[in-house]
Order: sequence, then structure tokens, then C-alpha cells
Amino acid sequence: MSKHGFDSADLRIKPGQPVKLSQFDAQGDGSLDKDKTKALTETLHDELYQLQSRLYAEGKQSLLVVLQAMDAGGKDGTIKSVFRGLNPQGVVVTPFKVPTPAELAHDFLWRVHQRTPAKGQIGIFNRSHYEDVLVVRVNQLVPEKVWRARYDQINAFEQMLSEAGTRIVKFYLHISRDEQKERLVDRLNSPDEQWKFSTSDLPVRERWDDYMQAYEEVLKRCSTESAPWYVIPANRKWQRNYFVTRILIETLKDMNPKYPKPEPGLDKVVIPD
Ligand code: ADP
Repeated sequence: MSKHGFDSADLRIKPGQPVKLSQFDAQGDGSLDKDKTKALTETLHDELYQLQSRLYAEGKQSLLVVLQAMDAGGKDGTIKSVFRGLNPQGVVVTPFKVPTPAELAHDFLWRVHQRTPAKGQIGIFNRSHYEDVLVVRVNQLVPEKVWRARYDQINAFEQMLSEAGTRIVKFYLHISRDEQKERLVDRLNSPDEQWKFSTSDLPVRERWDDYMQAYEEVLKRCSTESAPWYVIPANRKWQRNYFVTRILIETLKDMNPKYPKPEPGLDKVVIPD
């Protein structure tokens, strides 16, 4: 690890890299100090704001952020913490739920493509087209031949988006099974969080190992140069926010959005009374 316990390459899955999630510590490696990291994340937040302002003003490229996690994995919390305070006109969040009949009557990418960010925008997917090789695979909602073909279809789709000016960054927020239990118990017992609790999450928890296997295949097959997957140790929320913010900043810096050049002759303009 380099600067302040962080090198994005440590969390990025290389194309084709076999992944064993049981070997990723959801706690992180313990090298970060909580208070210092929280303070640093605040500073980074300003930097993220500046970069988003430039992306929005430039209006030439877009950023798509894909968030996937097990239930209670922190997708909502990440969105609230990391993207708070950005220019809301430039951020569009799309949650992907169980497909509607109209969505099911189309190919699986139909609903997704409609929600990809326009130029100048940051699009955030809270769940995504990856559900079509996760929940769909685990529950065999379509024949194996159909979901098996989707890894290549997703890669081709993302490649097309990337060639059209959309940068893609994908986060798998990795929590441990024990951490999920704690969070679900908290939800169950907190009046402000009970609304988030769904008994339908329990059968999903029972299939934990099947989901891990499905995630491992996603990570191995769909982490590409133009649309990498990052596995974020997500048991500790402050650490998760720090990692995600750092990677977003790194990505946006690489995109290098610039404010448009001002009209020539502005120095001679006088605003009339
Ligand atoms: P969340 O858990 O994301 O906060 P919900 O509790 O409404 O929101 O859950 C959304 C549900 O929609 C999840 O169970 C997810 O697996 C399911 N879902 C999303 N996309 C698909 C899909 N393509 N096919 C089947 N189920 C899906």
C-alpha cells in the first residue's frame, strides 16, 4: 500500500483475475486510523466537488458508477455519504428493482441503457445489469444458457459505452456474513430503519455462498481495462467511504474534465448599469 494506506490497484480486479472473496478481508488490512481517515475524506470531498463541477461544465464525457453489494452492504449509505454536496443537477441515481413486465418484455439491457448518464453527468446505479447474472443466476430465473451468455454481452455493452465517452467504475462493497447479521439485527430493532427490513432478504442470506460464487464470476469475467471492478472492504463505513472517494477522484482526474474556454474578449466586457 502507498499514500495513506491506499493504492487503488490493490482493490482493482485485473481482467481475467480469478477471485476468491473468502480471501478478501471485509475489515480491511487495519492500517488506517479512523479519525485521520475521516478528516482526510472530508478534504477529498472538496476535491470531488471541484472535479464534478468541471465534468458538468465541460459537458463532453460522463461517469457511470455501478454499486453492487449483498443486502445491508452499504449501497445507500455510500451514495448518501460520498455524493453528498455535489451539484445535484449533475448526478442521477438509479435504483434497479425487480424488473417490471414491460422491462421483462425487452432484452435485459434495455432498461439499463435508458439510464446511462448523459454527457456532463455522473450516473449512479444502485444495483445494475449485474443483477441479471447474480440474483437471476442464483435463482435460475432464466435458463443457464441465457445468463451464461450475459457476461460477454455486458462486456460488449460497457465497451460500447466507454467508446461513446462514458467512463465506468464498478464497486462491489464487500461485507462479511457476520457484519450483515449485525446490520440486519440493527435494522430490525431500530424504529428509523425497520422500513428497510424485508423478510425477503432472509432467503438471500441463506444462499450467501451461491451469491459469493456468482460475484466471483462477475469479478473475474467483467473487470476490464475500460470498466474495472473494485472490491471494497466495506465492514467499516468510514473506510469504505474513503476508498470509494479516492477511486472516484483518481478516475475523474484521469478523465481530466476542463472548464470550457471563455468567450474571447471577456476582459473588455462592461456590464451595463
Ligand atoms: P435494495 O435492496 O436495493 O435497497 P429493494 O429492497 O427494493 O432495494 O430490492 C431490490 C430487489 O430487486 C433485490 O432483491 C434485487 O435482487 C431485485 N432485482 C434487481 N434487478 C433484478 C433483476 N434483473 N431480476 C430480478 N431481480 C432483480
